[in-house]
Amino acid sequence: MKIHILPPAVADQIAAGEVVERPASVVKEMIENAIDANATQIDVFIKDGGKKLIEVRDNGTGMDPEDAEKCVLRHATSKISTIDDVFAIRSFGFRGEALSAISAISNFEIVTKQEKDDAGTCVKVDAGKLISNSPSPANNGTIFRVKNLFFPVPARLAHLKNSGTEMAAIRREFESFALTHPHIGFKLFRDETVVLDFPIGKQFDRVTKVLGEDSSALIPVEGNLPAAKIHGWVLQPGRCGTSKKSQLLWVNGRHIDDHKLAWAIREAYHQTAGIEKHLYPKFAIWIELDPLLVDVNVHPRKTEVKFSEPGDIWSAIKNTVTSGLQRSERSSLSAGGTVAQFTESQTPHRTSSFRSPSFSGGQKRSAANFSRELFTQPKSFSDLHAERSGAIEEEPAPVGKLQLVGQVAKKYILAEAENGLWVFDQHALHERQRFEMFWNDRETLLKEKQTLLVPHTPQLDEEQRELLLKKRDQLNTLGFELDENLNVIAIPSLFTEKDLDMLLADLSEWIGDEQIGEHTSDKLLRKILEYKACRGSVMFGDALQPEEMQKLLDDFQTTQWRNLCPHGRPNHVFWSFEDLDKEFHR
Ligand code: ADP
Ligand code: MG
Repeated sequence: MKIHILPPAVADQIAAGEVVERPASVVKEMIENAIDANATQIDVFIKDGGKKLIEVRDNGTGMDPEDAEKCVLRHATSKISTIDDVFAIRSFGFRGEALSAISAISNFEIVTKQEKDDAGTCVKVDAGKLISNSPSPANNGTIFRVKNLFFPVPARLAHLKNSGTEMAAIRREFESFALTHPHIGFKLFRDETVVLDFPIGKQFDRVTKVLGEDSSALIPVEGNLPAAKIHGWVLQPGRCGTSKKSQLLWVNGRHIDDHKLAWAIREAYHQTAGIEKHLYPKFAIWIELDPLLVDVNVHPRKTEVKFSEPGDIWSAIKNTVTSGLQRSERSSLSAGGTVAQFTESQTPHRTSSFRSPSFSGGQKRSAANFSRELFTQPKSFSDLHAERSGAIEEEPAPVGKLQLVGQVAKKYILAEAENGLWVFDQHALHERQRFEMFWNDRETLLKEKQTLLVPHTPQLDEEQRELLLKKRDQLNTLGFELDENLNVIAIPSLFTEKDLDMLLADLSEWIGDEQIGEHTSDKLLRKILEYKACRGSVMFGDALQPEEMQKLLDDFQTTQWRNLCPHGRPNHVFWSFEDLDKEFHR
């Protein structure tokens, strides 16, 4: 074949693949444009997960008839003129390719009017071909209607997920903008019903709503560095969970996925509060940088950015979160009467700072070492249990009397035994004990169900509903009764209706986690009981009375799988006096 230049519509359809991956990408581009046009109210209407219709209305500047036609051309932008402008960009758009791409692969319509004009304009484009440009009644601002997305490229259409999943992605995109722009009102409609409504208001209110947390569960973080300003909110360490959702980061107002920065935040939790790294805090954090220090032009969909000093940003974010956590810890310490108050420098922050060389001989009881041994030679008590916790003792070895010394930093319980010193993670310890109680009683627990007075419709997004539906039959053998629309008719007596939304959201997350392997009924049951065990347990950060602590210590004597919490974290470390003596060269 001889070389020929592709017709612009075909070139646009190819390029569209880079910008528009799915309906949510259209929503993103349209909202960005509306914000760039100074809108104060943005309404998004979705039909059939965006496959039928994506409509975005704004009350921004609008366009005149000439621009309304020009804006769908490739490289049509009012935002930059030279390449240098890209590096100082403050608006979202600059590539001038979103509208050309979207209009190349849909039935596209613009209705727009500027305040100074009497009449508006309506421009129609089908698969990149201009159909009409005519005067039209319009309010000030712009309406974009995208119908039948991907119809000229059926191969792309086939790649779309079902409507519920596409809607969930749209919702995440929408929330990201709503969180960042509290001075703009946002409404999301699904098939004509409002599903999210954010009136103009405080950023914090939007954050609590989107993260689904009480305001008291969130800790503000703030960093004012010469090259970066950081602000946002992070979750109380004791409430970290296994879900990676709700880890939200923005750089100069752009929502980004950056695993390294998320890791920096987990590192701060680990070092400050001893939170294990497989537990994830929810957070919403905004980083403002000099635009010259960050390259936003590395990815056509702009979900990644390149920092000129990535290491500095990493430390900046880690330090900011660390000091937020420390500040909150100090204020909660001074508020409660703890048995033993340690200053920060005296508190062992890192679990890894429990040094191991001295555990090499004699009575090594460091949970980490202990569980490692057990991982290599598991005795079978219950294979099911072994799959995740590894630590199994058929008969727990006697510990001897444990004498309470006190509580440290509202997190750890110190106890003296005849032969050494025990330090317990109070949450992990209690959680393990509760889990065992439920696990041992599981047969009876499952038989006791309660029928709800009125069926409960869980608060779940489409993605979560679909995941749960896959396991409906199994859940129905485990004390739940869910109808085919996931309305909850009955629940195991061990739960209350109040637990349901969180529990089901948690389960859907677990069902979606491919690392679990096969999601058998036994594992599902275990997960449900873990949830129950975790929720009712004393938290990291709870001040405990001496009697409460002594009770935990007494119960530890009969705890079967003693070394780990249900999630597989150690719940204690032990130093024999012999080891301590050696440490001090006695
Ligand atoms: P970019 O945003 O990169 O400039 P787009 O293709 O998204 O490229 O938009 C092209 C141009 O259309 C914009 O530069 C802007 O001038 C105009 N435009 C797009 N959306 C709107 C809107 N909602 N209100 C006013 N003007 C808009
Ligand atoms: Mg744009």
